[in-house]
Amino acid sequence: MAHFSPRSIEEALALLGGAQPPRIVAGGTDVMVGVPRELAASGVLDIMRLGELRGISRGPEGWRIGAATRWAEIVAHPLPPAFAALQEAAREVGAVQIQNAGTIAGNICNASPAADGVPPLLVLEAEVELAAPGGRRRLPLADFVTGVRRTARRADEIVVALHLPDPAPGTGGAFVKLGSRHSLVISIAMAAAVVRLDGGQIAAARVAVGACSPVAQRLPEWEAALVGRKADDPAALLPDPAHLAPLSPIDDLRASAAYRLAAARELCRRAVMRAARAAGGADD
Ligand SMILES: Cc1cc2nc3c(=O)[nH]c(=O)nc-3n(C[C@H](O)[C@H](O)[C@H](O)COP(=O)(O)OP(=O)(O)OC[C@H]3O[C@@H](n4cnc5c(N)ncnc54)[C@H](O)[C@@H]3O)c2cc1C
Repeated sequence: MAHFSPRSIEEALALLGGAQPPRIVAGGTDVMVGVPRELAASGVLDIMRLGELRGISRGPEGWRIGAATRWAEIVAHPLPPAFAALQEAAREVGAVQIQNAGTIAGNICNASPAADGVPPLLVLEAEVELAAPGGRRRLPLADFVTGVRRTARRADEIVVALHLPDPAPGTGGAFVKLGSRHSLVISIAMAAAVVRLDGGQIAAARVAVGACSPVAQRLPEWEAALVGRKADDPAALLPDPAHLAPLSPIDDLRASAAYRLAAARELCRRAVMRAARAAGGADD
């Protein structure tokens, strides 16, 4: 099998633009499971040596997470309390071995409905930066993941980084996942929330649910309804069934659609409660 390990983005893009473009591989935890025969035919474009794709940094515009940053690095990095939504999700991706190999861009490019990284990145308002031979572009994550295993990435593009705005002071985040057992499990449903508090009341909230629709969904009507509610009143933090209208769960071997919807409702409440608690302790 042909194996390419470029040292610059330009070199990687030139390989992708060739007559027989190799398949991009980062940690390989999705690719290697799915299509080994296809990989043998196409060859592998290993992007893990591209320095620009690695690491987490903060600049004047907010946070930048390199595309090939591994889940374990995200867990270990000091980040603001709102980013607990992402760090808690990172701890749920497979087990430690998977977190040591799998990357954040691999998760969103694979575009599984059950990708644990997508709901937290949606509530953190992530943008995806793509590089192509003709230049770079940035897309909101909601426009990048377009369907089951489908993204807006063109064949000649590499995801370079994710960009996340600095959370407002007093903002906390959380992620909750329901699977059929505690670890190494594909989600039945999951929810991520980011909440800003003002005097014990919710001043702003963003909530997203995964594994209950082809692409993880924000719940805009529930987010609007939460504003002004008391953050320590569990009864006030349970969404109405109507607030879950953007979801369209399916029956499969892991759960029925009805069970997924009931679970998502409770997970939304727990995610908001935990995010509010994190916001209460937030000091940046
Ligand atoms: C045992 C096991 C358990 C798992 N558990 C979970 C889980 O609980 N939750 C979960 O969400 N996932 C889980 N996964 C899936 C997987 O580990 C994650 O999705 C991981 O983040 C994928 O990252 P990767 O770097 O390994 O991707 P890869 O396998 O290297 O790539 C995945 C896809 O993304 C493309 N790609 C990767 N990087 C780029 C880039 N920079 N630009 C353009 N395209 C790119 C590749 O071409 C490929 O199509 C599990 C996998 C295994 C094997």
